[in-house]
Amino acid sequence: MNAHAVLQRYIDHVTIAILFLLHWQSSVFFQSFFQHRYGAHGQFTMSRSWERIFHFMAWLTQGSSYLSPRAYAILHRMHHAYSDTPKDPHSPIQEPNVVKMMLRTGKIYSGIKEGTLEVESRFDDGRYPSWPLLDKTQDGWGWPLAWGAAYTLFYFAFATHWWQFLLLPIHWFMGPIHGAIVNYFGHKVGYRNFNGSDDSRNTLPFDFLTMGELFQNNHHKYGQSPTFAARWFEIDPAYLIMRVFAAFGIIRLKGTQVARAPSRVTGSRISIPVPANAD
Ligand SMILES: [Zn+2]
Ligand SMILES: [Zn+2]
Repeated sequence: MNAHAVLQRYIDHVTIAILFLLHWQSSVFFQSFFQHRYGAHGQFTMSRSWERIFHFMAWLTQGSSYLSPRAYAILHRMHHAYSDTPKDPHSPIQEPNVVKMMLRTGKIYSGIKEGTLEVESRFDDGRYPSWPLLDKTQDGWGWPLAWGAAYTLFYFAFATHWWQFLLLPIHWFMGPIHGAIVNYFGHKVGYRNFNGSDDSRNTLPFDFLTMGELFQNNHHKYGQSPTFAARWFEIDPAYLIMRVFAAFGIIRLKGTQVARAPSRVTGSRISIPVPANAD
């Protein structure tokens, strides 16, 4: 193999790795930033034009597993209201395993999206982004299959080993995989800053996996805080990007709630009182 061939092989390897990391991080960023923090919670504001740009970016980066902002917002508001109770759409405490938990989530999400599930009016107040042209692309199998085919073609063009094709299902089902990680581990594994009524946890102090979504314990305590980090050592990558957006005037964070942790971390066996001013 000559030097050029070796270099080409290296570039192809890196191309697959870059594609995978880019798809993983961008799709979970827009899910956290757009559907979750902006759509479901309204933690910050932006102009109509920027809302459209970010809506399009969410559609583009989430591709085959794009989430309807309306269905996501309603489902997620139900999660906050009924966290870890029998009415929670996705609680690892109520379900025996992650597969059953995600099947229940998928069923409730589809029911909301298709209008076959009756939802409480407080969860469906019309305050979420809506763009029927994009949102309807997930109604059938056409667009998800087209996205899946596009990812597959990319692998045919750049994969250098057969085992790289094993990554393809992760691209096809990236949204549900992120959801399974956050909803299962975020209420099952990790430490707690706040002893609330649910089982939410902070799974990683630096959430490099899901752009800050694994600070579930902080987020359940401060649902309106755009930052999910509440301690000096906690790093919420999506919030760092949002600070840049705010510095350029793209989003407005002014006057929003800020998550703050009590004086020390509580482990599963240690409990400390939640400060009276925490709300
Ligand atoms: Zn949660
Ligand atoms: Zn939330």
